[in-house]
Amino acid sequence: MSKQCSKCGKNNAIYLRHYSGELLCKKCFIKSVEYKAKKTLSKFSMINHGDRVAVAVSGGKDSLTLLNILKNILNGVKPELVAITVDEGIQGYRDESLDIVKNFCSNLGVENRILSFKKLFGLSMDDAMELRPSKKVSSCSICGTFRRRAIDLLAESCGANVIATGHNLDDYVQTFFINLFAGDIERIGWAYPEPVEYGSGGLKKIKPLMEIYEKELVLYAIQQNIPFQSEECPYKDESIRTDFRNHLNNLEKSHPGIKYNAYNSILKIAKKLKTTDSMISQERKKCLVCNRDSSNSICSVCRTLDLLIKRN
Ligand code: SF4
Ligand code: ZN
Repeated sequence: MSKQCSKCGKNNAIYLRHYSGELLCKKCFIKSVEYKAKKTLSKFSMINHGDRVAVAVSGGKDSLTLLNILKNILNGVKPELVAITVDEGIQGYRDESLDIVKNFCSNLGVENRILSFKKLFGLSMDDAMELRPSKKVSSCSICGTFRRRAIDLLAESCGANVIATGHNLDDYVQTFFINLFAGDIERIGWAYPEPVEYGSGGLKKIKPLMEIYEKELVLYAIQQNIPFQSEECPYKDESIRTDFRNHLNNLEKSHPGIKYNAYNSILKIAKKLKTTDSMISQERKKCLVCNRDSSNSICSVCRTLDLLIKRN
């Protein structure tokens, strides 16, 4: 016999939240996920009245869910939302997700702007994979470097001052361990979620879903009939992130709530290590090639392009 929701006591439960012991019906589950995102937004003052928010939407479950949640919880009030999408140029993979994003945004009544690597850098990810000098240069690091630039430019082009991304709690905890094991302590401080303006454009990055488990976002997307792309990118490299994901998932299975405990500890560590001054001083430099903000004399995008096309 099915059990009842422990929140409303009326409907049949569809989900057991292991770490809290709550049984939730569809309605209470959806409400609880949206409430969590709302609480994160306000706890870290992520969005203020009058902001224009560019939501980075790839077509995966996290980004479409983020757009759906922001549209629901900010409905009718300022700020304004616009969806920004990067077309990396990965044949047979990205084309499908672009269609999903276009349809989803048009159903929600949200503007969608797209920028391709080809248009911006003169080469697609498919081209970059042909041109890369060695497999030691990781596909995802090339793609990530280009994508961050494309997202900044897209946000600037629509007059946005806030960029929202769909990173979830699992991503956040994995990133901490990656930085910890790489000895990259400075990055741990940067990950503190209170938004800091960067660069001359005064943009801020926020992660409103960072306190929600990945598996709850999958369930939310399914319950809300959000049509996300589930196929994997052909260039995905098996990075150390996959190892941390598997280890943390195994730990969570035997110790429900351990990821959430880790998240709370990481927040405290990140707050102590937050070094706003060093971020600001780094951002004052300009790349000698493209004149964008850079922590070195040549920015990572221009260095990557040099590596691929040996520019002079
Ligand atoms: Fe880019 Fe890697 Fe993501 Fe593929 S998996 S879209 S290469 S970052
Ligand atoms: Zn540059």
